[in-house]
Amino acid sequence: MNTKRILIVEDEQPIREMVVFALTNAGYEVEEAADARQAQASIAEQLPDLVLLDWMLPGISGIDYARRLKKDDLTRELPIIMLTARAEEEDKVQGLESGADDYVTKPFSPREVVARIRAVLRRGGPAAEDEILRANGLSLDLASHRVSAGESLLEMGPTEYRLLEFFMSHPERVYSRGQLLDRVWGSNVYVEERTVDVHIRRLRKVLEPQGYDALIQTVRGAGYRFSTRV
Ligand code: CA
Repeated sequence: MNTKRILIVEDEQPIREMVVFALTNAGYEVEEAADARQAQASIAEQLPDLVLLDWMLPGISGIDYARRLKKDDLTRELPIIMLTARAEEEDKVQGLESGADDYVTKPFSPREVVARIRAVLRRGGPAAEDEILRANGLSLDLASHRVSAGESLLEMGPTEYRLLEFFMSHPERVYSRGQLLDRVWGSNVYVEERTVDVHIRRLRKVLEPQGYDALIQTVRGAGYRFSTRV
């Protein structure tokens, strides 16, 4: 089994050390860089399997560096997860448009970062490319991020997509709002629990025309459950 190499680009040493510790424990090989220049030198020496890239870096910002990596033939296919302190949906969208594969909002738990890395590496693997989650006639394509109900493609925001991906990969189980925040948003203390309700409502609205909103069930006093059973 070959060990995956992760490059962390982060100027804040405590965060870098926390991530290095968590990733090493999870069995990854880790390279560190404090800015884009150091990252470039590390990549030139050996191409990592994934880059964890902080948004706010001295010199070239994380987002500009992500764009640069995506333009370069050598690094075009390199998966990038952005570390961001910004919770604004706009910024997340901008981050994903820059070519990042995913993002984790600070403050995050080490477990969350490891989970995201696993998910992104799995998505990128050749075997994962045709991985599709299905529930009745609803399908979610992990490679292309397309969600369809029968023949029709459903449009939704990135948070609704991640929420649905989480639900479809963890069916028939009740999750509290706090658990959903932790698993879907990352354990971000700045997000209020009612944010979950807002996104659940949006997701149901997207699923409603084909009747799939019934799959997302409210469990009174407990939270939400994704279930194909009534
Ligand atoms: Ca920073």
